[in-house]
Amino acid sequence: MSFTNNSKNKVALIDCNSFYVSCERLFNPKIQSMPVVVLSNNDGCVISRSTEAKKIGIKMGEPYFKVKELVKKNNVQIFSSNYALYGDLSRRVMKVLKGFSDKIEIYSIDEAFIDLTHIKDSQIEEYGKKIRERVLKWTGIPTSVGISSTKTLSKVANHIAKKDKTGVMYLKKNIDSVLKNFDIADIWGVGKQLSKLYKKNGINNALELKNISNTWVKKSTNVLGAKTVMELRGIPCIDLETEDTKRKSCCVSRSFGKKVESLEKLRESITTHCLNAAEKIRIDKQTTRAITVFIRTSPFDRNRKYYSNSITIELPVSSNNSFELVKTAIKGLEKIYKYGYFYQKAGIILSKLKESSEKEFNLLTPILENKSKTLMKAIDFTNAKYGRNAISIAQAGIKNDWKMRREHSSRIDTASFDLLPKINV
Ligand SMILES: [Mg+2]
Repeated sequence: MSFTNNSKNKVALIDCNSFYVSCERLFNPKIQSMPVVVLSNNDGCVISRSTEAKKIGIKMGEPYFKVKELVKKNNVQIFSSNYALYGDLSRRVMKVLKGFSDKIEIYSIDEAFIDLTHIKDSQIEEYGKKIRERVLKWTGIPTSVGISSTKTLSKVANHIAKKDKTGVMYLKKNIDSVLKNFDIADIWGVGKQLSKLYKKNGINNALELKNISNTWVKKSTNVLGAKTVMELRGIPCIDLETEDTKRKSCCVSRSFGKKVESLEKLRESITTHCLNAAEKIRIDKQTTRAITVFIRTSPFDRNRKYYSNSITIELPVSSNNSFELVKTAIKGLEKIYKYGYFYQKAGIILSKLKESSEKEFNLLTPILENKSKTLMKAIDFTNAKYGRNAISIAQAGIKNDWKMRREHSSRIDTASFDLLPKINV
């Protein structure tokens, strides 16, 4: 069987190289050519590695204690994750990418799909190079650019671009020979379960999956499985989720560094999460209509009883007012909190989000809205200028000793004046 690719569609996947490591290196020239590793929350596992760290044999996702020997022996530089820094740099990268196409899907903190159908075939590779150069020049973050006719193929192209010196790969010709050497488990959307099923049926690489019979794939997998096959054939089936299809919910949650028992401490944590989420949706000019609060103990703690609960509260009117959201979230927390448990995680989800311009009125709206809008603007402005949580509310607590363990943090926050990197010349 053979499939010809007639699609005029062009989509690029831009992926930041070892993103968290690159962020740490940006303000620390000394570690430029040293092996560097970033750890997950509470310094648990390896989540980002420099090329040098990969070469030493440090694996992705490995628990920190398991690699401590290697780290010592090779003088590997260790960093706790610093999401304030990564989030800020991610926003800068995405802003640069928006200059290249109106149609962009921010897929994760360090990846975005952009539509490049408007660029001619003959110019596409140059264009890819331009994207890389500008992102590097304006933000300092190195990227790889994979381009092809579907999202799934652009992911494949990106894998290859990562290994190529130019950092850009336009996958149009000789697709089959590339797919033949591409492991089934590395295909976008093919998870562990699915790749097991494929391998059991003798499908080991992307080319074999591309050439599978439609009947078999429809019978043996789900809709997404069939879509992946079509996309490998160059037929676009998975649309770009652009800003117009903006996020419908916003979740903020964290695991506690030290387990938390008291309602008071949970209140502080939920308040902080709620303030962060409220700020996020205000930045996106959105309001929320429903708040979910959830708490749980550790499912792996065999010595203690497990408890997990959540509650969703609908607001009478859509809002992005911090005080109103916090008040509602705390009410929810008090309903689901149970004394005598050691909580490991707490969080909130704001859902039923919509544009704040889509007005919704009740009798009190005009008076309350203007007042709160001015106040929220003042808070966001101050926090942007003087650092996160410069203005907060008393309920968020002053000490915050429930916060994460971050023993190796670079303590840099490009959104906070006090934590700006210092450079000695
Ligand atoms: Mg990446």
